Amino acid sequence: MYKTLKNTDLKDKKVVLRCDFNVPIKDGIILDDSKIRESLETINYLIEQNCKIVILSHFGKVKTKEDKVINSLEPVYIRLKELLKRDIYFSHETRAVNLYLQVDALLPKDILLLENTRFEDLNGNLESGCDPQLSMYWASLCDVFVMDAFASAHRKHASTYGISKYVPSCIGFLVEKELNSLKKYIIEGAKPLTVVMGGAKIEDKIELIESFLNKCDYLLLTGGIANTFLKVLNINIGESLASKNPTILEKVKELLLNYREKIMLPLDVIVATTYDKSYIKYKHLNELDSDDIIVDCGNKTIEKYKTAVLNSKTVFVNGTMGIYEDERFSNGTKEFLRMLKESECTLVAGGGDSVSAINIFGYADSFTYLSSGGGATLKFLTDENLPGLSGIDEE
Ligand code: ADP
Ligand code: MG
Repeated sequence: MYKTLKNTDLKDKKVVLRCDFNVPIKDGIILDDSKIRESLETINYLIEQNCKIVILSHFGKVKTKEDKVINSLEPVYIRLKELLKRDIYFSHETRAVNLYLQVDALLPKDILLLENTRFEDLNGNLESGCDPQLSMYWASLCDVFVMDAFASAHRKHASTYGISKYVPSCIGFLVEKELNSLKKYIIEGAKPLTVVMGGAKIEDKIELIESFLNKCDYLLLTGGIANTFLKVLNINIGESLASKNPTILEKVKELLLNYREKIMLPLDVIVATTYDKSYIKYKHLNELDSDDIIVDCGNKTIEKYKTAVLNSKTVFVNGTMGIYEDERFSNGTKEFLRMLKESECTLVAGGGDSVSAINIFGYADSFTYLSSGGGATLKFLTDENLPGLSGIDEE
């Protein structure tokens, strides 16, 4: 059991708090601030405990100098200030001598947000590579480290695992809630369990798919992942997104052989094509032409998937039925969510796009739990082990 906020002496301490403020932003405008809102409970508790608070977060990827401009945490700083209804400080530096002075000058209940931790990746991948010097430097800014970045907990970075090796540490309220909820509703939840897996890149998820197959009763596949399975079954998927990697294709074949009764695949689809923007057609899977591209699933697929859902008590969703970001290809996702809503199952979802689709299409109230993680949620559900938390003190 990890040490929690309530079991840690935080009174009057200097605290480094790691949040995940990696919110979607377009043209400097935050599209969805839920990740910032979800951190408020921990921040307010640290304020109550009279702490001096230094907050760290990554934001997007930083590979070039231009990325530093696009991926500044400044819009998050402004929003956080509004949500907390108090003045807070922002440092454009992630590591500098004068940061010590700034931190020392903080008064109890003051908050200092540092710039995107991944700015340190420009100096040789120091943040993402979990550089010991950088980890020690950030640890030296505090008496206690609080890890509340659930969505980043599947990786060992300097600002997550790194710091926790050098100072007393505990998890924040968000991480605590995520671990407890995922355990309660999915790991120890009512069976049968249906898992929905979708998304573009099968390479990222193949190992997780295999782990889920050992635990779930039905696995409903969608998106690019389903396409790769269809391709291995020699179904013509035209120009649809699918893996070409021989190792992946071999693995998929093995999974299809070993778990045929659990894996469910689409029956009908919506296709588009690259040469004609107005070409959008409904087709059964045996009707595809060589230049068709699968962009959504059809109603027969939803009916088929409904049979698994009706036999289940719990459904975990990670992935959308189609390219839901485009209104023309969002019907499958909407119909699938409507079908889930009508079931009596405990519904849980994780993943940026999945949760975003659930919110946009108005199904948030039908879900028992929406996880703030994507990769971290999947990792925890498959083996209950999050590398980013492995340095946190135990009780
Ligand atoms: P999450 O972010 O919840 O983990 P993913 O990113 O894995 O989910 O999956 C959602 C993404 O998959 C969306 O961006 C969606 O456009 C894409 N997608 C769904 N179906 C298809 C498809 N048939 N072809 C290409 N991309 C797809
Ligand atoms: Mg996604």
